[in-house]
Amino acid sequence: MTQQIKADLHSHSTASDGVLSPDELLQIATDNQLDLFAITDHDTIAGYLSVREQAKAIGIRLIAGMELSTLWSGIGIHIVGLNFDPTHSAMTTLVQYQTNARIARTEKILQKLAKIGFELDLSTLQSSVGEGVIGRPHIAQLMVEKGYVKDTNQAFRKYLGAGKIGDVKNGWISLSDGVKAIRDSGGVAVIAHPNHYNLTRMKLLRLVDEFIGAGGQGIEVISGKQHRDITEKIAAIANDKGLYASIGSDFHRPLSYGVGVGELPPLPDNVTPIWDLFD
Ligand code: AMP
Ligand code: MN
Ligand code: MN
Ligand code: MN
Repeated sequence: MTQQIKADLHSHSTASDGVLSPDELLQIATDNQLDLFAITDHDTIAGYLSVREQAKAIGIRLIAGMELSTLWSGIGIHIVGLNFDPTHSAMTTLVQYQTNARIARTEKILQKLAKIGFELDLSTLQSSVGEGVIGRPHIAQLMVEKGYVKDTNQAFRKYLGAGKIGDVKNGWISLSDGVKAIRDSGGVAVIAHPNHYNLTRMKLLRLVDEFIGAGGQGIEVISGKQHRDITEKIAAIANDKGLYASIGSDFHRPLSYGVGVGELPPLPDNVTPIWDLFD
């Protein structure tokens, strides 16, 4: 029997919209005896870089990671990049592009919300986020603090979620250019949480085909807490299309929806794990 690898290749730290610091995440991954771990913040590798040396010292295998926001057919699609060279110019250029896009987007979201009467100040937002990148969850939190909504769920449901006034996504890199940049920097690209986009089967298959055409190689067969039927469905697509299977908790915070770092069932036996591509 082959030895079971314990992996979690999708998680968020305070460098984006997670609540735990990169070292707290690393500590949990170590305590949970993960063989492979990745911190995949939204459009930044700062969290990963801050604990890379520490991971080596502890002896845990920390894979370079980032969750890239991309645009495909008018839909925001997240791509997890793994095992790239963080110093490669294709990666540093990509991060800079997305940082600029995120700043411009935040300003646009605040302008749109201002038009419907919400006074949300960019500098307040920036100081609450600190060194991390600003995302919609931070805007949602500020809306709660200002008393505009009762909780962050309501902020997403009414103002920030898919199709709402604050869902601005047209500045992100295209799916194909994003995948190419990940590949050029020596990494592998993975479709994140394929079940979260509310795509028809036909459209999901079209996404997969275009992703593969751009050089994409993986898909998250297990993403957080999901029904076994979904795991089986995505595993079948992975096998049909020749994609490698990834697994990740998409951890943002303890004790809320979802699962803890590394608290995941194993990948199904019939798929090829993404780590077969790591050296
Ligand atoms: P952004 O990176 O600014 O596009 O924000 C996307 C992040 O917002 C996701 O990664 C989730 O962490 C969070 N998010 C998305 N949809 C919701 C929702 N409906 N309720 C709460 N958080 C959400
Ligand atoms: Mn997030
Ligand atoms: Mn995502
Ligand atoms: Mn994520």
